[in-house]
Amino acid sequence: MPQNISKIKKIGVLTSGGDSPGMNAAIRSVVRACNYYGIVCCGIRMGYEGLINDYVVELGPRSVRNLINRGGTELKSARSQEFRTKEGREKAAKTVKKHNIDALVIIGGDGSFTGGTIFQKEHGVPFIGVPGTIDNDIFGTDYTVGYDTALNTAVDAIDKIRDTATSHNRVFFVEVMGRDAGFIALNSGIATGALDILIPEEKDSIEDLFIAFEKAQEKGKSSSIVIVAEGEKLGGVYDLAKFTKMKYPEFDVKVTVLGHIQRGGSPTVADRVLASRLGVAAVEGLIAGKSNVMAGMQSSKLVFTPIEEAIKKHNEIDKDLIKVADILST
Ligand code: ATP
Repeated sequence: MPQNISKIKKIGVLTSGGDSPGMNAAIRSVVRACNYYGIVCCGIRMGYEGLINDYVVELGPRSVRNLINRGGTELKSARSQEFRTKEGREKAAKTVKKHNIDALVIIGGDGSFTGGTIFQKEHGVPFIGVPGTIDNDIFGTDYTVGYDTALNTAVDAIDKIRDTATSHNRVFFVEVMGRDAGFIALNSGIATGALDILIPEEKDSIEDLFIAFEKAQEKGKSSSIVIVAEGEKLGGVYDLAKFTKMKYPEFDVKVTVLGHIQRGGSPTVADRVLASRLGVAAVEGLIAGKSNVMAGMQSSKLVFTPIEEAIKKHNEIDKDLIKVADILST
């Protein structure tokens, strides 16, 4: 076991914002990496609420056994309004001081990283971010922890919908998660052979959708599935279904909103490995004196991105993939 000669003797880990599958694997990784490097690890329950209210528990390597395969987050997550206030962050700083926590690993999305940045500026607590969100829109990593699992969950559900759609010549509008990003929609749409995919990043029109339906009819397709990201701009699945029914009264139009099943479930191998790598990287980064950065993987290489950049920029949808989806739906 290497000797820890850095200033970091105690690390606090928390999960914040929306939960994502693989957060537990990331917690486990941070705890075990701390143990490996002779650092005490504290779990902070309920995100920043836990920092404010002193929900701090010491976590040893055995306390995270049987965790890597479990969905959700054992530390629980929260959205904390109080942490957005100076007074709230002062309370949080008292907790950090009381427990002699030298640095934080923050597992969450860009909101959580913004909170960490403000906290660092005001109270000097170093932190490294681990991107944990199903949306995959955080700049500085090809994939975020939870995205692969959410995508596979969506594909599994859409495959099942296809079975019933084909049996009855139905048109299905399936809403998947992604308020600002269409990664889940685009990739699940390609993977399930959707007729059309509507995402926030693209300007779609209802006329184009109707043309797609008509082409599908001409080709004698037995069913049509349209994948709609939550943040798509044509008005949402229910309106799309309503307008389609008005235009084509003969269609049997159905809507399915996949909702929170996409956040749950046992993480995939890809998410477990990603979370494990980034958890270790965060601890090693703090030992090396890094702060205000996010650990991520780009082209299979570990990278630390300045947190300001991770917050401000966003992963772009690959235009080639949009073209692939268009070609394959014809
Ligand atoms: P997701 O992408 O899943 O929504 P997120 O980390 O972006 O995750 P948010 O709800 O935006 O989720 O942020 C999580 C928490 O971070 C907030 O509840 C709040 O406590 C803290 N936070 C966010 N923005 C700020 C801010 N400007 N100042 C202080 N704290 C903040």
